[in-house]
Amino acid sequence: MASTDKTQEHLHILMVSLSAQGHINPLLRLGKTLLARGLHVTLATTELVYHRIFKSSTAHAADTVPTSITTNGIQIIFFSDGFGKSPNKDTYDTYMELIGKFGPVNVSNIIKNHFLNTSKKLACIINNPFVPWVADVAASYNIPCACLWIQPCALYAIYYRFYNSLNEFPTLENPSMSVNLPGLPLLQPQDLPSFVLPSNPFGSMPKVLAEMLQHMKKLKWVLANSFYELEKEVIDSMGELCPITTVGPLVPPSLLGEDENEDVGIEMWKPQDSCMEWLTHQPPSSVIYVSFGSLIVFTAKQLESIAKALKNSNKPFLWVIKNKEGEEPVPLPEGFVEESKEQGMVVPWCPQTKVLSHPAIACFLTHCGWNSMLEAITTGTPMIAWPQWTDQPTNAKLISDVFRVGVRLTPGSDGFVATEEVERAFEQVFAAEELKRNPSELKRAAREAVAHGGSSDRNIQSFVDEIISGKLDG
Ligand code: UDP
Repeated sequence: MASTDKTQEHLHILMVSLSAQGHINPLLRLGKTLLARGLHVTLATTELVYHRIFKSSTAHAADTVPTSITTNGIQIIFFSDGFGKSPNKDTYDTYMELIGKFGPVNVSNIIKNHFLNTSKKLACIINNPFVPWVADVAASYNIPCACLWIQPCALYAIYYRFYNSLNEFPTLENPSMSVNLPGLPLLQPQDLPSFVLPSNPFGSMPKVLAEMLQHMKKLKWVLANSFYELEKEVIDSMGELCPITTVGPLVPPSLLGEDENEDVGIEMWKPQDSCMEWLTHQPPSSVIYVSFGSLIVFTAKQLESIAKALKNSNKPFLWVIKNKEGEEPVPLPEGFVEESKEQGMVVPWCPQTKVLSHPAIACFLTHCGWNSMLEAITTGTPMIAWPQWTDQPTNAKLISDVFRVGVRLTPGSDGFVATEEVERAFEQVFAAEELKRNPSELKRAAREAVAHGGSSDRNIQSFVDEIISGKLDG
């Protein structure tokens, strides 16, 4: 059938995600591009997203979750994860198990109630690695399934090889072995994602990833929130095994030189905007920005060591300290905020993408979450890598040794990072010429990738062409 006929049939894409900002936003941004190319887009996510984000802005701010809402042209349908309004994120294992039980039934109902026996053609379902069961639901209706990989392609390659037992990885008998994989530098245990280490204490996440990675070949497309020029070697290394196709960076358009009002991303926490005003009073390239994402909470002793290093640096700083919801904040050293109020600002949450775009920012002390890294890359901000778990150790290796856009902190054997070590990193990042040049080169490459005719733009078009031509069904 000719492509225009199919488009007229209302080709629909259904995307499915957990209620995590870092999972939903790349999908929504991909959705927006698909929408611009003539497809209809729906996101199915859990009811928590309605309560946290949309409830206050909808006409009937009732407790009852509406069947669906439409925002920026994307329909959002909410389903129950079995946990209700305030999942206790402490219990990841229980949460992943519950959503693994309720999710398939509820997403299946969404397909039945919203797509089957209607004039809409559900052409493709897109999941991400943390909802692997979506692929089975799609298969049960004979609907093609694609995955949006939301970590670096390097992680995809490592996990694929690990969970399909294609290469040797550290074992309990040989925990310190290094790993040599195509397209990647030699990886020491501290460079590997925590889930593949024999010491890994996290139960459900590796289970979910293992399930996903072993079934990747069943997927029609594996799309990635990255860009070819950033991860060329490792992407090419997967070509024969199970190709991955870059469609990113899926960051707010303002970071790519486009209109800032065009973003479709959601915010789970309200940012403290006053830091933007504070930034305007700081000299260009002077501020150390510190944030460890939405999940990591440091001990009081670790906060003290960072506080001392910031103070001793004599540089202006903006420090985000996100505490666990419903828990007492971990205390900063007594008097620190008051004593350093001329030098810096501590906030519970900030508008990070605006902060990173500000000319006053010099560098970013980060936990190496992939969204934060892409935001730093697209704004040309050098990084100081302080990884904790999951993909972050490998991301840190990419920062220091592959992308060469930052330095990495070395913790002591107990995992504690001393003040002197943080100070060393600050000095290094301010002094290195390479860290002025490389970030701006990658910033340019990111913009080229998403521009008309760039690598990600072409990849998205190939995906859309395949959907429109009906080849994805075959
Ligand atoms: N973020 C933010 N304000 C903050 C800190 C973080 O808006 O004060 C956003 C940041 O821009 C990024 C996301 O939260 O998009 C964090 O995602 P990432 O993958 O880096 O880390 P995670 O929180 O998932 O560990």
